[in-house]
Amino acid sequence: MSTFNAPKGTYDLLPPDSATFLAVREAIARPLRNSGYGYIETPGFENVELFARGVGESTDIVTKEMYAFETKGGDRLALRPEGTASVLRAALEANLHKAGNLPVKLWYSGSYYRYERPQKGRYRHFSQVGAEAIGAEDPALDAELIILADQAYRSLGLRDFRILLNSLGDKECRPVYRAALQDFLRGLDLDEETLRRAEINPLRVLDDKRPDVQKQLTDAPILRDYLCDACKTYHEEVRELIGAAGVVFEDDARLVRGLDYYTRTTFEFVHDGLGAQSAVGGGGRYDGLSEMIGGPALPSVGWALGVDRTVLALRAEGVELPLPTVTSVYAVPLGEEARRVLFAKVTELRKLGIATDFAYGGKGLKGAMKNANRSGARYAIVAGERDLAEGVVQLKDMESGDQAPVGLNEIVAELETRLG
Ligand code: ATP
Ligand code: MG
Repeated sequence: MSTFNAPKGTYDLLPPDSATFLAVREAIARPLRNSGYGYIETPGFENVELFARGVGESTDIVTKEMYAFETKGGDRLALRPEGTASVLRAALEANLHKAGNLPVKLWYSGSYYRYERPQKGRYRHFSQVGAEAIGAEDPALDAELIILADQAYRSLGLRDFRILLNSLGDKECRPVYRAALQDFLRGLDLDEETLRRAEINPLRVLDDKRPDVQKQLTDAPILRDYLCDACKTYHEEVRELIGAAGVVFEDDARLVRGLDYYTRTTFEFVHDGLGAQSAVGGGGRYDGLSEMIGGPALPSVGWALGVDRTVLALRAEGVELPLPTVTSVYAVPLGEEARRVLFAKVTELRKLGIATDFAYGGKGLKGAMKNANRSGARYAIVAGERDLAEGVVQLKDMESGDQAPVGLNEIVAELETRLG
């Protein structure tokens, strides 16, 4: 204990669990790297206005959840609550879209911040891996992203997740639906705030999780019935492509990501072992976003997967990831001379890529062997004065307990052979 604790709604990633987080990030990134997505890193904070416009003035993220602050220099900034707006801002700023090879495909991984009511799976600091494909309207691109996310989850060994899919229409058909939905919502018994939301962003009301609201929405008009022919064809093609790839999905006519510039393809990955915070990831097409933040028209599609919830999903399914051994060899010196000699061997082994650790702090044999055990090392090498005088070290197999002397000049090669 110190005087301080981690701030409310945050937690520390500590070994050994932190290895699972790294493995999850890596598993999500691998299919992206393999599919032409380049890595992008943007600052942890941005001009607050970018998020106000790029996430949406009427969203909970902007109205309630943003860590906004003014700097000593008078700049209005916010800790990033999500990745898409920043990635698009950076791509536009660097003119990546003018380099002539659209779509620009980017992936990212990092920390995000939302001032939320903390609960299991919902934190104030969390971690996402995301992908954005900027500047192309092609159902195969939407399909690619869904397929890659599915591949990432499957490669982790997850089984109990579902993909929910919908189309939100475009600027032709969405407004007609929006008006019809608004008419319907005006006739309901809703609280002040929800009625206000119905005026600004009626689609978001469909996303209201409260049972009393959901009950009234049973007969709400459904977007699918309003899709124009172009949107219908586009959506049908996305469905066919992901189906042909063997990816199982469910049509969910009520799935919305209620920002005005979200268009057409919308999807969410949900896991059934997580309780209330069941969404492990989500994404969709955002053809209007670039223009919203002052860029040219750039139809784009992307997703973000939550690392924290994915780790919870793994736990819920009892999946143990095959994590690489942390330490293969543990060196235990007994005395000054042995310390120098073994430390040099440790450095040699590490140069060969063999994960090796060392008993620091001049521990006695018993304490050092306890540490060797705890490290999970397959082999320990132990040497005292008498061993060195004979030109050997003791090589102990930690699994069988067998121990035998090996020549000081042979030990590195011997370990290399044994560890294959
Ligand atoms: P929710 O409906 O659960 O609030 P969201 O729609 O706000 O999710 P997105 O903005 O789509 O979530 O973010 C993508 C993913 O990031 C989510 O599916 C989730 O896994 C993760 N995520 C979002 N907010 C949090 C949070 N506060 N804590 C942990 N993970 C989060
Ligand atoms: Mg949220």
